[in-house]
Amino acid sequence: MNILAINSGSSSIKFELFDMHTSAPLASGLSESIGEPTSQQSYRLYKSDGSYDELSETIALKNHEDGVRRIAQWLVESKAIKDSSELVGIGHRVVHGGAEFSQPTRINTDVMAAIRQLIPLAPLHNPANLRGIEVTLAEWPDIPQVAVFDTAFHHTIPAYAHHYALPANLAREQKIRRYGFHGTSHQFVSTALARLLDKPPNEINSIVLHLGNGASVTAVRGGQSIDTSMGMTPLEGLMMGTRCGDIDPGVILHLLQSTDLSASEVDSTLNKKSGLKGICGANDMREVLRRVNEGDQQALLAVEMYAYRIKKYIGAYSAVLPHVDAIVFTAGIGEHSPEIRARACADLEHLGIHLDSQRNVHVSSDSCAIHADNSRIKIFVIPTNEELEIAKQTLHCLREADSTTTGRSS
Ligand code: AMP
Repeated sequence: MNILAINSGSSSIKFELFDMHTSAPLASGLSESIGEPTSQQSYRLYKSDGSYDELSETIALKNHEDGVRRIAQWLVESKAIKDSSELVGIGHRVVHGGAEFSQPTRINTDVMAAIRQLIPLAPLHNPANLRGIEVTLAEWPDIPQVAVFDTAFHHTIPAYAHHYALPANLAREQKIRRYGFHGTSHQFVSTALARLLDKPPNEINSIVLHLGNGASVTAVRGGQSIDTSMGMTPLEGLMMGTRCGDIDPGVILHLLQSTDLSASEVDSTLNKKSGLKGICGANDMREVLRRVNEGDQQALLAVEMYAYRIKKYIGAYSAVLPHVDAIVFTAGIGEHSPEIRARACADLEHLGIHLDSQRNVHVSSDSCAIHADNSRIKIFVIPTNEELEIAKQTLHCLREADSTTTGRSS
């Protein structure tokens, strides 16, 4: 019972094929530079012991249609599947589901039209996600396809937390509110935490820190998101690789009114030239930390700012949750940087947060506890797996649809 998860970007397509009996990956790949004269494809073909063969090729992929067709061919050529009849469903990552989509949703023309209508809220992402859906439907018209939204997990955020204090009519008209992102990651990690603690998700409160190129933090109460740091767009909240995160909105007005920057230049400044990159010139945390070790003061400032923001959100979400069972670090930086974890948790003993410095540096590739034995709040590193979450939600959605159909006909 295989499900293919697809994440279609503006010039790339990422995919992963899972055996849903075991949740094991069978194959995965990335097609980059689609639309350029040469495009790079890299693939992994997994063996039953979890190891994999890595393969790559460079061919021209004119567009997303070529990209998906090549993936379809490769899956059969590599014997990852015999033919498309082995696929029970395809799940697509869709970044913005607006207020409309609170669940993974079986794709049909109405759903595609609704995703199209949400393009003004995610002008960079939704068109690419939609393109991926269109070409995948053309390639595999008989396989059920499901849209899994990054925003859906945050639908449980109460009104007082998702409204901005703007004129209510304007906000309604323009669909301005906190939507939140990285939902599949926050959901995957909070479910994995429940398994680790051997409790049902509805009995656990946690603060989940997704620290990757983009970064967000979610307050999870009883398995549901009750607040998250990203807002109407993925620009709000924590400091990120190239995004500024929280900023006085007056700064944006100042830039527009007092400099020659156009609105789109301000957009690019805040999204692509700020964050770690804006402060020290590098957006890859490994490079930033290397520079700190060499005594670079701007890199040190960037790291201090980065950790300070995380700490502020831990404090804020400790206040909005009735109690906190665990803090979880995930994604590239969260999973791999003991230094950032240590800085983010430093001096929080008064909140019941005690990191164990030895456990923090000896983290394996699996989920790990890194709190000290006397810590009231547990601290974990849990690797995220957004593709597997998309595949799981796809299967769940298809089963629900089946049971509804069966229910109706019986
Ligand atoms: P992601 O978006 O989840 O792939 O995360 C990308 C981020 O993780 C980049 O900023 C990388 O620099 C960072 N990262 C990956 N490995 C490490 C590491 N060993 N130490 C610090 N940061 C890392």
